[in-house]
Amino acid sequence: MSVQTAFKGNKRALPSKPCTICGRDMSWRKAWAKNWEQVLYCSDACRKKKGRPAATPLPSVAI
Ligand SMILES: [Zn+2]
Repeated sequence: MSVQTAFKGNKRALPSKPCTICGRDMSWRKAWAKNWEQVLYCSDACRKKKGRPAATPLPSVAI
């Protein structure tokens, strides 16, 4: 039969964008539904690679 599962069909339609660090294609995740536009990194690993001087888990407002 030529019946495709809804999941397969939907997956193609999901948005995706490259990780700003490694450039890998990130496919939309349900967890990102509310902040998809703010998602820049494919993983925590890449987020850490961003180049933060470490020590401070939260960005400090210096300026
Ligand atoms: Zn990445």
